[in-house]
Amino acid sequence: MKKIVYPGTFDPIHRGHLDIAKRASKLFDELIFAVADNATKKPLFTVDERVELIQKSTQDFPNVRAMSTNKLIVEVAKNENACALIRGLRHVSDFEFEFQMAMMNYHLDPEITTIFMMPDEKYIHLNSTVIKEVTKLGGDLTDYVSKDVYNALKIKYSI
Ligand code: ADP
Repeated sequence: MKKIVYPGTFDPIHRGHLDIAKRASKLFDELIFAVADNATKKPLFTVDERVELIQKSTQDFPNVRAMSTNKLIVEVAKNENACALIRGLRHVSDFEFEFQMAMMNYHLDPEITTIFMMPDEKYIHLNSTVIKEVTKLGGDLTDYVSKDVYNALKIKYSI
């Protein structure tokens, strides 16, 4: 059984993430979202809320699940018997950071391969920060996040 881990903050999950997850989950038997419990980033949603929003947003994906972690991502992959990590690449500007991460993860565990994927061009400009800023100011983002995420954002911002 081939498994792949999709690590990230997902604060919150949006359709760019979902596009990558959908494509990657078709190439593997199981895709596991690993949501980073990383307090230094000061996320809007708690780690449990972010996991729950992923679960709700991926209900139609048959072989996807989500978990939280505060461990090294290669350790998560090893514990889950996954052979690969998936990361999204939007712009050239993503490349440098992703390259460093991939090399470090390769150093930590050469058995775990990082795979990069580009989303559909309609999601290339999306990121969670823009999603939060626009929702806070009352913009309609139903094209870019699931209904559950949109409702959760509105509750957070008391809209
Ligand atoms: P980060 O991991 O940098 O905190 P996220 O947790 O939001 O950011 O992203 C997790 C992964 O999803 C990263 O590989 C990131 O490049 C990717 N990603 C984020 N937004 C998009 C998008 N719009 N299209 C494709 N991939 C994306």
